[in-house]
Amino acid sequence: MKKIVAKFGGSNLKKKEDILKLVRVIKAYNKPLIIVVSAFYGITNHLTNALDSVKQDEAQVKNLVNFLLGLKEEVINENFEDKEWAKKTLEAVEKRICELERFLTGIHYIGDVPEFVEDVVLSYGERLSSLILNAILQSHGINSEEALPEEMPLITDGEFGNATVHYQKSEEGVKNRLKEDKIYVVPGFYGVSEKGKITLLGRGGSDYSAAAIARCLNAESLDVWKDVDGFMSADPKLVKNPVRITDLSYTEAAELSYFGAGILHPRTVEPLRKVNIPIRILNVDTFSTAIIPGTIVHSQETITLNIIKSVTYSDDFCILSLKGAGVGMKKGVLAKTTSALDMAGINIKSVITSQIAINLLLSAADIKRAYQLIEKLQLPTVTELQAIENLTTVAVVGEGILETSGIAGRMFMAIAKKNINARMIASGASPVATYFVVSSADKDASIEAIHSEFFG
Ligand code: ASP
Ligand code: MG
Repeated sequence: MKKIVAKFGGSNLKKKEDILKLVRVIKAYNKPLIIVVSAFYGITNHLTNALDSVKQDEAQVKNLVNFLLGLKEEVINENFEDKEWAKKTLEAVEKRICELERFLTGIHYIGDVPEFVEDVVLSYGERLSSLILNAILQSHGINSEEALPEEMPLITDGEFGNATVHYQKSEEGVKNRLKEDKIYVVPGFYGVSEKGKITLLGRGGSDYSAAAIARCLNAESLDVWKDVDGFMSADPKLVKNPVRITDLSYTEAAELSYFGAGILHPRTVEPLRKVNIPIRILNVDTFSTAIIPGTIVHSQETITLNIIKSVTYSDDFCILSLKGAGVGMKKGVLAKTTSALDMAGINIKSVITSQIAINLLLSAADIKRAYQLIEKLQLPTVTELQAIENLTTVAVVGEGILETSGIAGRMFMAIAKKNINARMIASGASPVATYFVVSSADKDASIEAIHSEFFG
């Protein structure tokens, strides 16, 4: 029998009573499952900040340890009726936090955070979730077991902080470790290098770990549980009547995620599309008794009457503009620029060039560093270097967008009517997405205008 991989994220683990909801969902499946969990909401950020503070101040180690212990104790007291179970679980949690404490103390004494230690420390958010959830399931009489990625092993390419899972190398081990007909609880967010080092799969990467495990198991589906119904036609915070999207193709889901729809990690689709494993998005908060997905992501590509399925945005875009007469025509400028950024580990999201400018779209976190690097290159043809911040990319996504005339026209008319100027427009790079860049101040009005143009 094929298994289902179910992923629960930080948004399902905000409050202590949230775990009971997960237990109800898990029971409702009434079949063996692989459960992949994230850290409790906010914990990874907490651990990230601690990395820095423990370097300076040893007292911060104890502060963090006490904070985590307090938090977990609350969850345990809330979720176990049986005192013996509560005691046993608290002991196991203390033991795990003690391991973490040793790494943090090490960081303080060496006054530095080696990459491989950073990845280990940040994995503890997930490790605490899996330990506690598994104990709670057992205390509810469910036949479950915690399974760690290093026990499989879930093998990665070894890049710290942002690794890629190697499915072929992982498949046999993952299948073996998770072979029994029971429930396994797996901490998400990390795998191990071939040398056995813990490597994180990038921020928000638990979706991607769950997808990789689903791929290795050739699962029936990957079920991603959220606190929202699924993909929507626009962010419900920005438009009045967003509609839920029941079906999306893999490409649409990947583009929507890339362009900022926070439902799935952009890499979730990657392991699954080739082997046709569907992704189902479900809402824990509205769950009552039946497992009913809000959105299903699969290989069928449906062109709707509207063409556009969703309009989304990301604030994480900045432009680095290299200007100079003929800069777009001269050989080598782009090559030198991109290789300098590549060597510094800076990802270029997109490049748009003209005769007089090369515009690189970069993440906001990278723009200052990128500016300094390119300035240092002293490229003779570049007479002006400009970093433009506070930008938002607005993307419309839907199968058929490239082949249907008039979509871009309607979109730009809609924003023009609101006097919004699109600073840059890109179409054609993706078969299902068109996007443009506006100043962040125009974001809300742009989304509103486009959504009402297409969704009335
Ligand atoms: N806890 C990790 C993060 O916050 C991974 C995840 O939540 O998916 O980035
Ligand atoms: Mg997430």
